[in-house]
Amino acid sequence: MAKLIEKPKMTLAEKSYVWETGKGLGLTMTRFFRNVFSAREHDSEGHKLLRRGDIDTVNYPEEKRVYPERFRGVHRLTHRLDGSPRCVACLCCSTACPAQCIHIEAAEYAEGDPRRGYERYPKVFVIDELRCIFCGFCVEACPCDAIRMDSGLHMPPSTQRSHFMFDKATLMAIPGADGTFQTANPRHEPGESGHPGIDREHH
Ligand code: SF4
Ligand code: SF4
Repeated sequence: MAKLIEKPKMTLAEKSYVWETGKGLGLTMTRFFRNVFSAREHDSEGHKLLRRGDIDTVNYPEEKRVYPERFRGVHRLTHRLDGSPRCVACLCCSTACPAQCIHIEAAEYAEGDPRRGYERYPKVFVIDELRCIFCGFCVEACPCDAIRMDSGLHMPPSTQRSHFMFDKATLMAIPGADGTFQTANPRHEPGESGHPGIDREHH
């Protein structure tokens, strides 16, 4: 059965809209002036101070928002202490990637390198940052902490499609938000006490 809803009763002032329009403009102007003046208040590190009721805006790009620690920024490939990539070209990240935007070509280390036959390295490693949906699955899938999204950087704007294709050299040149190329959670390397050994005899 249809329910009859009574029309709300309005006063004469409300029916005229003049008073209500004035109230709306008053609220808008209060917000406007509060934000104009609060935009000049910064803390000692230059971050805009926000007060309860302020509209949360920044004058980008002069002012930059501080991203939270877990912000997923553009990718980086972490380094070992000798500067080589931690990546062992296992393809776990590209397999997990729902956007299929990671392209890896694996290669063997040179003859005589102790890592030859034990692990591989990425000869080619390209991420299409424009196709990426920043889900973080690649970081979760990586067994070596070799790919991270803790750079603290968002993708810089560009009018050229090619600028969004990050190759291995680009990915390795991006430091973490802490300014280093390492990772806080590396796997154990051959020779280290926590490493199980590179063959079944644990040598
Ligand atoms: S963040 Fe997600 S979409 Fe982007 S490369 Fe990693 S897995 Fe692919
Ligand atoms: S970044 Fe990690 S998951 Fe991706 S290929 Fe390298 S080692 Fe494997």
